[in-house]
Amino acid sequence: MRLEDLPLRDDLRGRTPYGAPQIDVPIRLNTNENPYEPSKALVDDLAEEVRRSAATLNRYPDRDAVELRADLAAYLGHGLTGEQVWAANGSNEVLQQILQAFGGHGRSALGFEPSYSMHPIITSGTSTEWVDGMREEDFTLDPGKAVAAIEEHRPSIVFLTSPNNPTGTALPMATIRAVLEAAPGMVVVDEAYAEFAREGTPSALTLLPEFPRMIVTRTMSKAFAMAGTRVGYLAAHPAVVQALLLVRLPYHLSTLTQVAARTALRHRAELLGGVAALRRERDETVAWLRAQGLTVADSDANFVLFGRFEHRKAVWQGLLDRGVLIREVGPPQWLRVSIGTGEEMAAFRAALEGVL
Ligand SMILES: *Cc1c(COP(=O)(O)O)cnc(C)c1O
Repeated sequence: MRLEDLPLRDDLRGRTPYGAPQIDVPIRLNTNENPYEPSKALVDDLAEEVRRSAATLNRYPDRDAVELRADLAAYLGHGLTGEQVWAANGSNEVLQQILQAFGGHGRSALGFEPSYSMHPIITSGTSTEWVDGMREEDFTLDPGKAVAAIEEHRPSIVFLTSPNNPTGTALPMATIRAVLEAAPGMVVVDEAYAEFAREGTPSALTLLPEFPRMIVTRTMSKAFAMAGTRVGYLAAHPAVVQALLLVRLPYHLSTLTQVAARTALRHRAELLGGVAALRRERDETVAWLRAQGLTVADSDANFVLFGRFEHRKAVWQGLLDRGVLIREVGPPQWLRVSIGTGEEMAAFRAALEGVL
């Protein structure tokens, strides 16, 4: 039997699933993970905490993850409390719950592409209509055009991604504010890469007290070096969290996930310790790529978008043949490289020199 033969929803026919290739090569710079593995001290602490909680696995987890949410609020600062924070299996699940609660049939969500490919996928997965507001040539967002798109489409949800994936572009506060003032519904500011932003880039968290329909999403998958744990979270008005309780599955966040996340948060000095080095490595990568005569987008994240290539697939394949996996994503002539360790970036530079 083929997929087309199943009684699939009409709006899912012909769609392709999210598919960053998972290829086993020596240098993997394709999914924006943090390249630094947890230390032995952290691994030991995690093992001990998991062992302790294993004795309780006959019981369901804390359905509301109260302690984890309090810990996440303390990490975020800005005077936030656990009632203003919600967590799920990756920020992707957080986003899906937002769409389930505030989107759906007859409603639309507006984003500004090129941006995170999961925003339209989660949007259509919940039968919400996706509207692309488009970015400028240099991947910035024109606040006037953003407001005009909002007024034209009246979306139930607006997605802002800052810093944006796959371009690395951070949004000025004035643009976020303009969107918040114009939006008739919810505004999601996806800050998956906030910890990598350059000095002086403020977080949308500072706007929360003023805009109760804003949701700031974060993740432990990137700067926090815990992608395998699957924990994402948000900060918003407590009423927003109450809305998400209506759609979340009971006991969605396992006991082991909650324990691992809380342990990682205790070790945050170590886990976030690599961020400064990754930022330096990113800035050096941008400078090196420009010195090769390539076009490079300014980046506030742990990846760099560069181009432009007539045949980007050939460049991607050439790198892969040399043991370096990067990502074929974004506008047609561009490629994205995630920032790895110094050694990994040296291997990337050598491989790209070989290809070019
Ligand atoms: C990686 C990423 C996420 C995070 O996904 P998780 O589900 O938390 O691993 C969210 N938003 C953007 C823009 C991303 O690039």
